[in-house]
Amino acid sequence: MEQKISKGWLAKTLSQLKVFENPRISEEQYPTDSEIAAETLWNSAMIEDFNQKVIVDLGAGTGILGIGTLLLGASKAIFVEKDSYALGICKENYQKIKSEFNVGEAEFLELDVSNYAGKADVVIQNPPFGTKEEHADRVFLEKAFEIASVVYSFHKANTKEFIQQFADSKKFKTTHYWEVDFPLKATQKFHTRQIHRIKVGVFRFEKAVETQNL
Ligand code: SAH
Repeated sequence: MEQKISKGWLAKTLSQLKVFENPRISEEQYPTDSEIAAETLWNSAMIEDFNQKVIVDLGAGTGILGIGTLLLGASKAIFVEKDSYALGICKENYQKIKSEFNVGEAEFLELDVSNYAGKADVVIQNPPFGTKEEHADRVFLEKAFEIASVVYSFHKANTKEFIQQFADSKKFKTTHYWEVDFPLKATQKFHTRQIHRIKVGVFRFEKAVETQNL
């Protein structure tokens, strides 16, 4: 189907995907809100990061980020997720989108991100923020920097300094940074009904070009 791409269309299409029914608390399975996903992806699409590119979505969950990149012209998205239940929903979501739009191909890998060994053009990830397991997001970042030279990554805004130092140590520079109010919906049983928001920083990292010693 021919589709005129706009940020509003992207947000609406992503809002129709299935989300976690019974999220696993220990894995911090919080889906990215569709408005925030569209906002983030739109910023990146503007700089041609996805068009005709191979994308890896680490800790893909139900797939909103990787599917968004496909909707914006990625040639392939590789979804890496260790939870089979989440990956099952991710596959369903991809099939739904594929039946409606002319999108690129997908690969689904039930793996711990640390065991992924491939390469790609871009990594996109909204990893666990490490509230249950300290520095859980560092494993993701380390892997992302091995896979691609452009990385989009979500982290708690109050860890910005640490994240940037870590990226620096891996020779990646922050080219873009913006903050979003990330709604953690009351999907967990023990949560009260209201939506709790936390400040999340979205980073775009790019591998620093080595300067030659002349
Ligand atoms: N990227 C999705 C999901 C975010 S929740 C979205 O934006 O909506 C984080 C996801 O990472 C969960 O689905 C969780 O199961 C997965 N995860 C956590 N640790 C992981 C690991 N070590 N390897 C692979 N997946 C992991």
